[in-house]
Amino acid sequence: MHDTSSGAPGLEPGWRWNNSFAALGPDFYTPMRLQPLAAPYMVGHSAQAARLLGLGPDALQSPAWLDFLVGNQVPDGAQPLSSVYSGHQFGVWAGQLGDGRAALLGELQPPAGHTASAQEIQLKGSGLTPYSRMGDGRAVLRSSIREFLCSEAMHALGIPTTRALCVIGSDHPVYREQPETAAVVTRLAPSFIRFGHFEHFCHHDLHAQLRQLADYVIDRFYPQCRQDSRLNGNPYANFLQAVTERTARMVAQWQAVGFCHGVMNTDNMSILGLTIDYGPFQFLDGFDPGHICNHSDNQGRYAFYKQPNVAYWNLYCLGHALLPLVEEQELAIAALETFKTVFPQAFDACMATKLGFPEVRDGQRALAEDLLRLLAEQRVDYNIFWRRLSHWVAQDAQSEQEPVLDLFLDRDGIDPWLLQYSEHLAHIPRGLAANLMLKSNPKYVLRNHLGELAIQAAQRKDFSVLGQLLQVLEHPFDEHPELESFAGFPPDWAAGIAISCSS
Ligand code: AMP
Ligand code: MG
Repeated sequence: MHDTSSGAPGLEPGWRWNNSFAALGPDFYTPMRLQPLAAPYMVGHSAQAARLLGLGPDALQSPAWLDFLVGNQVPDGAQPLSSVYSGHQFGVWAGQLGDGRAALLGELQPPAGHTASAQEIQLKGSGLTPYSRMGDGRAVLRSSIREFLCSEAMHALGIPTTRALCVIGSDHPVYREQPETAAVVTRLAPSFIRFGHFEHFCHHDLHAQLRQLADYVIDRFYPQCRQDSRLNGNPYANFLQAVTERTARMVAQWQAVGFCHGVMNTDNMSILGLTIDYGPFQFLDGFDPGHICNHSDNQGRYAFYKQPNVAYWNLYCLGHALLPLVEEQELAIAALETFKTVFPQAFDACMATKLGFPEVRDGQRALAEDLLRLLAEQRVDYNIFWRRLSHWVAQDAQSEQEPVLDLFLDRDGIDPWLLQYSEHLAHIPRGLAANLMLKSNPKYVLRNHLGELAIQAAQRKDFSVLGQLLQVLEHPFDEHPELESFAGFPPDWAAGIAISCSS
């Protein structure tokens, strides 16, 4: 199908470029002329993400889309731009940042009555922008593959995230410590606005622009804040509260699945509560609450167990930025306070399902804390533990307890814990518990070494590993007997993988 009014082949009829962010005006961005990438080739794409744009599975393979997605050509109606933001990095004010290597291609709006929401299409690694500072505006293949796979993996785990449409490579070299393959990862989200956008306008005392931005986000994504009678009916305080709630729920899901973001700077926090900017992230292997996945994070500011507190700290920065609109400090503080109830509630709810409980049970928090302590003491593989526990519950057989026990060198702690857990389980139909567990404890997560295997193959122009990995990560709760090796323990060499900030 080809709808000429949409200016892009392969789109279903009625889709059109809307570009609502561009309509905010030049204080918010710089219009961009994209720098094309030489001799581009498709490394991987997600048919599921393509559906969000009303694109069929083959559309992305067309030469026209390849040209759009590396900036060789701009579709009629799109308005490429790079936005300005600021932010706090590693706890200190970093001043102006902005889309240093990303450009919004435009926003695609589905036809009226369509169930899909409008999506912005962003090209990351598309070349220099006015916000590139010391950088070259490019992204390398390895980090683009990691971002692509993790975006789709998180979505399949039910965790709010920006999406990824595809990764495109180019043999045109990009220099880091050594020459590397350049790439562009195409990201999709209803909006890429970050806490840092608000901090930017507050910092420069540009209150009219601050209000314009807040009104834009509220009208599009948080319209209920205008009707909410809580917090004295103050829409900006209600907006802060709604962002606080979404962020708390997202981080609770990170903690439950063992996801470490690695760079929770305020410019990497989505105003929609989406996981955004995948860099040195890691899914925990052995459970270590103090794990630091970012090689550049010398102080451990973004260690795994600190993520909820950091999210709260970041929300505080957002609250400060919104204060000129909220006007009353008490209201902003009240909005932020909701984190302290929403986060533990959301985390308890996640742990309940992981344990196979249809709802949070009395005594569950102590049970979960005891378990996490045991897992940490013996660095038990986090996701393998939960999957084996799920199988034990599903089989209801004593013999199936062995695979769980085998994960512990010292069984003195886990034996009594399993007894205690069985007492809780006795109140719940086994089938129900097992079903909950097998649908909430993934068999497949994007461990660092799996990403590395896909990257190494892709660097040899073999994209099959990436394709297989995407297949299991899109269905992480299903068994994939032919791809069992992706569900195993990390090999010894995984410990040597070091991933740092921007690459
Ligand atoms: P990140 O650590 O990826 O969140 O990036 C922090 C800031 O640095 C953002 O403003 C990025 O756009 C910018 N940045 C990161 N890498 C590059 C690069 N290679 N070229 C230009 N800007 C970059
Ligand atoms: Mg960033």
